Amino acid sequence: MATDLQIASQRIVSLNPATGEVLREIECAGESEVRDAVARARAAQPGWAELGLRRRIEILRKFQAGLYARKSEVAAVITREAGKPLAEALVTEVLVVLDAARFLIDNAWSLLRDEPVPHANIVAKLKSGWLVREPHGVIGIISPWNYPFSIPATETLAALVTGNAVVLKPSELTPISALELARLLYEAGVPEEILTVVLGEGLAGAALIESKIDKLFFTGSVATGKRVAEAAARRLLPVVLELGGKDAMLVLDDADVDVASSAAVWGAMMNAGQTCLSVERCYVHRSLYDQFVASCAKKIQQLKVGIGTDSGTDVGPLISERQLRIVETQVDDARALGANVVVGGHRLPELGSQFYAPTLITNVSRGMKLMHEETFGPLLPVIPFTNDAEAVKLVNDSEFGLAASVFTRDRKRGEGIAKQLNAGAVMINDLLSCFAMPEAPHGGTGASGIGRTHGLMGMREMVCPKYIDSDMLAIKKVWWYPYGEAFTRQMSAFVEMLFARSAARKMSGSLKSAASLWRKKL
Ligand code: NDP
Repeated sequence: MATDLQIASQRIVSLNPATGEVLREIECAGESEVRDAVARARAAQPGWAELGLRRRIEILRKFQAGLYARKSEVAAVITREAGKPLAEALVTEVLVVLDAARFLIDNAWSLLRDEPVPHANIVAKLKSGWLVREPHGVIGIISPWNYPFSIPATETLAALVTGNAVVLKPSELTPISALELARLLYEAGVPEEILTVVLGEGLAGAALIESKIDKLFFTGSVATGKRVAEAAARRLLPVVLELGGKDAMLVLDDADVDVASSAAVWGAMMNAGQTCLSVERCYVHRSLYDQFVASCAKKIQQLKVGIGTDSGTDVGPLISERQLRIVETQVDDARALGANVVVGGHRLPELGSQFYAPTLITNVSRGMKLMHEETFGPLLPVIPFTNDAEAVKLVNDSEFGLAASVFTRDRKRGEGIAKQLNAGAVMINDLLSCFAMPEAPHGGTGASGIGRTHGLMGMREMVCPKYIDSDMLAIKKVWWYPYGEAFTRQMSAFVEMLFARSAARKMSGSLKSAASLWRKKL
């Protein structure tokens, strides 16, 4: 309950995960600040919607130009706060957002255009129906630290262009990246009341759910997602939940081992494995298994772990000591249960307190934590399989269903397997990059969440469909009162006219029901 929340007194501290340097100390938003931000957004939103799509798109274009001009500066802010290499900050954060803006600019018109709903039923022939799509009002966004710019940005841009106001609560670990997003949007012309960033810990997020927002987009862990869903259900707040994953990669017997092993290493280690779409389980056909493991081991040993601002760095630090302990616990658990750590499997204290060596692990089994709990760290477990049917079963043996990938020289075979996998997205001969394609809907099944962001489906989540039905004749309708025996017979004949199989019955039905047109109505 909102009244139980006590969040006004604290401060959050943004730290550089590579060095421990304090980047900024920030006062937490209290419950009343969150409520006020939503009230201001609500008051301003109708004006933003009335501004019109043309003007909102102009603002989006300015934002895009501003971000493009400051791409290196923004990437550096993200790298300092989230630890990822500069190249990743540029590509998976800045570039993803520039392209998301392009997609919205190109597609918002067609999404928001009124859509005719033609009627096939003869009784509705004098009506014209159409769908209009209206903004929900105030959208709440709660975002995680692993993509501190691109996740809140893609959702915020879609909400704004469709005419909503936004109150954004970013992770306490990465507030500066979210403030950078807001700064660029304000400079482009978004009024401050239309986008507010409320900074604080999880309780600020909880306060946002209790406030008068109209819809919530939450991205984060399954545990928090369940709490969010419960709180939202109490007040029937619509939610989109983008939660965790345990994504599997399949390497079929005809795959190119060199290509597949490069993919596995990148897919598991990118952003130090802290990606919802990371490869967390890699199933390889037995005939390629030894060669594949050896190739991965060689490639992992070549990765340069270090500070994200060094241009040679491939893998940065983990976001927090807590995240590092999760990875460490999973590796220790697997070791104790007989797993074989081929490469890595330890901290790298010489680099800093939050660095963990990219790790390749084999001889893993179903009972180990790393096989069913999300790891979110630089860890690649490789498991052999014997045939495609077994591989599909292994992939689907998970409560998560975010994404999966299949590597094969036979695309058709890969596409056939894709249809059998329980996942919101399946990539053939690639992985992770579906998140960077603004046209592709993003979201999962099962414990991975509810609803979609990105693409037209993601844009549709930002608007409320309204059906408008307009009758050409302002006359009393046949089906209005009074009823009575004759009317019931006429209606029965009318059903015959519409759905009887034989032409004779249809004809008789139409003659018998015609009398209903002239009956006296109330
Ligand atoms: P958390 O669930 O810990 O936090 C997510 C956000 O929720 C943060 O802003 C957090 O604030 C906030 N929060 C915490 N408690 C509450 C609460 N009771 N009510 C409302 N908001 C709350 O996730 P992480 O930040 O650790 O992110 C990692 C997780 O996100 C992983 O599981 C990952 O798979 C998932 N994820 C999913 C994606 C997807 O698209 N499916 C994409 C990216 C990540 P604070 O940080 O201040 O505590």
